[in-house]
Amino acid sequence: MKAHAYVKALLQYGVAQRLFAPVDWFYVQHRLMALLGLAEMPAEVAPLEPFGFGQVQTLLDAMCDDAIARGVLAPCGVAGRDIFDSALMDCLMARPSEVQARFERLNAQSAQLATDDYYHLARASNYVRLARVAKNIKWTWRGQFGVLDMTVNLSKPEKDPAQIAAARSAAAVEYPKCLLCRENEGYAGRLDHPARQNLRLIPLRLNGDEDWFLQYSPYEYFNEHCIVLKAEHEPMTIGAHTFVRLLDFVAQFPHYFMGSNADLPIVGGSILSHEHFQGGRYDFAMANAAVLDGASMTRHAKVRMQMLHWPMSVLRLLSADKEALQAAASDVLAQWRAYSDERVDVVAHSAGTPHNTITPIARHRNGGFELDLVLRNNRTSPAHPLGIFHPHEVLHHIKKENIGLIEVMGLAVLPDRLAGAMAQMAACLRGECAFEVLPELAAHGAWFAQIAARYDAQMDALAYVQHEVGAVFEQVLCDAGVFKQDAAGLAAFRRFVAQINGVVDE
Ligand SMILES: [Zn+2]
Repeated sequence: MKAHAYVKALLQYGVAQRLFAPVDWFYVQHRLMALLGLAEMPAEVAPLEPFGFGQVQTLLDAMCDDAIARGVLAPCGVAGRDIFDSALMDCLMARPSEVQARFERLNAQSAQLATDDYYHLARASNYVRLARVAKNIKWTWRGQFGVLDMTVNLSKPEKDPAQIAAARSAAAVEYPKCLLCRENEGYAGRLDHPARQNLRLIPLRLNGDEDWFLQYSPYEYFNEHCIVLKAEHEPMTIGAHTFVRLLDFVAQFPHYFMGSNADLPIVGGSILSHEHFQGGRYDFAMANAAVLDGASMTRHAKVRMQMLHWPMSVLRLLSADKEALQAAASDVLAQWRAYSDERVDVVAHSAGTPHNTITPIARHRNGGFELDLVLRNNRTSPAHPLGIFHPHEVLHHIKKENIGLIEVMGLAVLPDRLAGAMAQMAACLRGECAFEVLPELAAHGAWFAQIAARYDAQMDALAYVQHEVGAVFEQVLCDAGVFKQDAAGLAAFRRFVAQINGVVDE
């Protein structure tokens, strides 16, 4: 029976990836056998080729197929198979307390040792589904603000009909409250809630005695993409506490940056209901943006402030003194919350509803702390019903979704529909088909006509389309910037900086 060989191969994978110790071999084997409905293990099992790091999904897929064929697992779609293969991987893993103890032990030597080891666990255990992440289309694009990272997200699987039906009748279960609640740890999942049996969380303390947890993102948009979530299910807020928490994190893990989405709709991330941050070990274009202007802060002697050459409006505060930096950032936030400049469409409130907020990013660099404060405004107008500082309508055929933390920093996360559309447009450029006969491309019509007119047949057509999508993303970021990088915008930006420094305008 193939099932026995699969079990043996998974055990070998677990030992090779240090998911469990060889002494636990039979214990793990018997847990797997119970899930797979196997009563015995023959003394001689013909071995399979070993499965290396990044290859375990192939084995898990075979195990799911085999379990369905033998009637152990009911026929199901992706969500059902995820639940089953997460349960299999969980058999190979230590309990949360053991994972935490291991992290603490390594962290006592070095924070990087601890995160390296934990990151390996998150990927080897298939919590980060590398086979799915590998499907994303990635390229880079060099524009006037540096090298932007481009991603078409293909890692979130299509929902199957059973899953959609389950979601429709899902009102009965509201547990865990959301995808970021700590109660997800070890949760089996349902067709309308992802499997989390192989999730392990690392407890953290931030801002004094607040309980938080660290995990890696299952979608992994960049190297060591992690999530830091609050123990309590509380809505996202940006305030002085945010800066304290972010700086506390980068003080403990100086090799990671950490940022927060803004706390208002349109300019925030997709989950505003649970306080969380995202970070990792990656240098985004924004981190390396040129400095337009640098000055000391008149009200905060230990803090320097820089305006960045970046399509979004970024004030970078720098100091070796964490407390001074927190105080300065809180001051900038308070002033920005109340700030209006109608010459550039920035209005702080309408009918009592606040519009101004900040997307903050903290990092440790050159021996000091940095806080990038990205100024955001979510006001809408009849001309821009989705947001004045949001991708404008002419760009919606490429990007319509919120510009959150990751995109602010220069990494586009584009919807999966673009994968097919880019390939089809490239085929049109190569003369393999006529644009007019592809009604699904209609939304791209005006834009395609422009790029087709500039296309040189010597170029690789797909690379050319991707290049042009990169240019659109740069414009997306420009639309989302409150102070534009032109004379009027920069003058307005300097007026705000002058106010921060207590210089009265006019
Ligand atoms: Zn929650």
